[in-house]
Amino acid sequence: MTDRVSPDSGESDLIRATEQGLVCSEGGFVIDPWKECNVALITHAHADHARPVAQTYYASESCVPLLKHRLGEELDIRPVPFGEKLTFNNTQVSFHPAGHVLGSAQIRVEGPQSVWVFTGDFKRDADPSCEPFELVQCDTFITEATFALPVYRWQAGPVVAEQIMSWWHEMQAAQRPAVLFAYSLGKAQRVLSELTAFTDQSVYLHGAVNGLTNLYRNAGINMLPTQPIDLQDRRVDYRGRLILAPPGASGSAWMKRFPNASTGFCSGWMRVRGNRRRRGYDRGFVLSDHADWPGLLTTIEETGAKRVLTTHGQASALVRLLCEQGVDAAELQTHYGDEGEDDLSVATAEASTEESTTKDSGN
Ligand SMILES: [Zn+2]
Ligand SMILES: [Zn+2]
Repeated sequence: MTDRVSPDSGESDLIRATEQGLVCSEGGFVIDPWKECNVALITHAHADHARPVAQTYYASESCVPLLKHRLGEELDIRPVPFGEKLTFNNTQVSFHPAGHVLGSAQIRVEGPQSVWVFTGDFKRDADPSCEPFELVQCDTFITEATFALPVYRWQAGPVVAEQIMSWWHEMQAAQRPAVLFAYSLGKAQRVLSELTAFTDQSVYLHGAVNGLTNLYRNAGINMLPTQPIDLQDRRVDYRGRLILAPPGASGSAWMKRFPNASTGFCSGWMRVRGNRRRRGYDRGFVLSDHADWPGLLTTIEETGAKRVLTTHGQASALVRLLCEQGVDAAELQTHYGDEGEDDLSVATAEASTEESTTKDSGN
C-alpha cells in the first residue's frame, strides 16, 4: 500500500474547493476544473468532471480516447499510466483505478506534509467493462457521495443483467421492441458486457451510445455485437430487439421509430420505486456505477483517512454518521452532479439532428 505521512494540524489544505474546481496550489493544478485553468487533472470523461476549460490535461491512458471524443481531438491531453508518479512542483501525483467507468481514476496527491485522495466517482462492485477499484490509503479522503443514504444498496451486475435478459425475452415473445435507457458513457457498455454471459445476439444502439461503445471495443472490452440505428433505414424490424439509448432520448421524436416499445431505465435511482413511475418507464433496473451506502462506508474506513470531505449530492447523513464515529468530516461545495445531465444534452442534440434529418428526407 502507499506510504502514510502523519497530518500536520498546522498545514493549510492541500486541495481546496474553489470557484475554479478542486485546486491544489502547492502543485499548480486543478482537479476536474469547471472554470479556465492551465493544468487540469481529470478523473474521468463524464461531462460534470471533464470540461473544455484547460490548456493542458492529464488523464489515465484509457480515459484519453474518451476525453478526446468528448472534448476535442486537438486538445493537449497527456496519458498517465495507472500508478505512475508525476511531480508537480512540491507534490507527487498518481492515478489509481476508481472502478466507475473505463479509465476512471482516483487521484492521489502527496504534499510536503500529507497524502490526499480524490475519488472522482467510484464503485466497488465488479464491472467487466472497466478497471477494478484500487484502495489507496490517505490522510484526507475526498469522496463522492452520490448515493449516500442507507436505502442505496446494489445487487451484483450479473444479477441485474439476468433481469434485463428476462425482460428482453418477454419482449421477444410479445414481438415488441425493448428500449433500455442507460447513460451513454459507462452504463451502456457495462450492460453490453454483462449480457455476454447470457446471449450473443446483436443489440441496436442510439448514435450517442454507438460512438462511445466503439471506443470501448477499441480498448478491448468484451461486449455483445452492436449495430448503430439508422432511422432512415425503414427495412429494419425492431420488434423483439434490444435497443440501448441515453435517457435524454426518452419521450423524444426519436422514439417514434419504435412503436409499441417497452421501455426500461438502468440506474441507481431506480432503487426508489417512485422514480420509475414518475419518469414513465415500464421497467426499472437498479444498476449503478457509483458506490452504494455500504461501499462508501467500507471504503472510507479502509483508506484509514482521519479526515473525510464529500462532493456530489446530499451527503449530510454520511457526514453526520462519520462525525459521530469521531472522523473529521465535512461537505465540499462542488459543481459535480448526476451523469444524467451530461447525457441529456448529448441525447437532445442527437435527437434533434436525427429529427431534422428525418424531416429533410420527407419521412
Ligand atoms: Zn461519473
Ligand atoms: Zn460525478
